[in-house]
Formats: sequence, C-alpha cells, structure tokens
Amino acid sequence: MRTQSDCIFCKIVADEIGSIPVFEDDHTLAFMDINPVARGHTLIVPKQHWQNLYEMPDEHLGYVSASAKRIAVAVKFALNPDGVSLIQANGQGASQSVLHFHMHIVPRTMGDELKINWQLRPGDLDEIREVAAQLAAAVEPVL
Ligand code: 5GP
Ligand code: ZN
Repeated sequence: MRTQSDCIFCKIVADEIGSIPVFEDDHTLAFMDINPVARGHTLIVPKQHWQNLYEMPDEHLGYVSASAKRIAVAVKFALNPDGVSLIQANGQGASQSVLHFHMHIVPRTMGDELKINWQLRPGDLDEIREVAAQLAAAVEPVL
C-alpha cells in the first residue's frame, strides 16, 4: 500500500482526519471538496498515493475513472445540473494544490462561467453534508 505520511488525502483515506465521504470501494474514495466551487463538488482519489497522472499506473487510473463515472451519474440523477465537468490537475502550472492524484466532479450551471483556476472558499459544512447524503443515496451500488 503506497502512502505518504505528510499527505492530507492519504490521511483522509486512513481516516486520520475527517472527511464527508460519498462512496468507496477497494481502490478509491469519493468525498466532498471542503471548498466547493459548486453544490455537489466531489473529489475522487485512489486509496494509494501517487502524486499525479504521470505516476499513476493505468490500472488505478481505471479504478478512479470508474468511480468518477459512478459519482458523475449520481450527481446527474440526484441534482440534475445543466452539466457535469471532470477536472484533474497535474503540476503547479495546472494549479494542482494537493499532491495526491484526484479528480474533481463539478456540477455545472448554464452561464456559471467557471474558471479552471477557481479561488478556494470554504463551504458551509451543513450544506455540504446535506448534498453528500443526496449523492450517497443516488450512487449505484457495486455489484
Ligand atoms: P487541486 O487544486 O489540487 O486540483 O484541488 C485540491 C482540492 O482539494 C481543492 O479543491 C481543495 O478545496 C480540496 N481540499 C484541500 N484540502 C482538503 C481537505 O482537507 N479536505 C477536503 N475534503 N478537501 C480538501
Ligand atoms: Zn497521498
């Protein structure tokens, strides 16, 4: 199991620090972004530590992609947004701020004019928990 002791997402995976989870399977965890750029903004991470796409084995990219699809479908079903964006940053120039591979699932609204380098602003935890419960209820179970 690859892990890095000073990595915030490794700590979330290990339950050493709290998160608001939506879904997990053997290889991935989906949890709410604490600075949501939209209602329902979710992150998918591999449970093991890889910094970025360049380092990730294809197999684990596959696991993350499958979970990302699962969450995107749950977002569509539960929140019915105008669209859903999957965003994944690699390196400083791409504004990657947490150096553990992650995929953003961002519900979109017509005309939101979302900039790819958005400002991080803490969300209301009660609201985030509420939407997390909606998403968790809409996630297709793993068969
Ligand atoms: P990046 O900028 O690297 O693509 O995205 C990192 C994301 O992680 C940001 O959207 C940020 O809000 C989120 N984030 C950073 N620290 C934490 C944390 O401790 N918990 C959660 N749930 N999200 C975090
Ligand atoms: Zn990590």
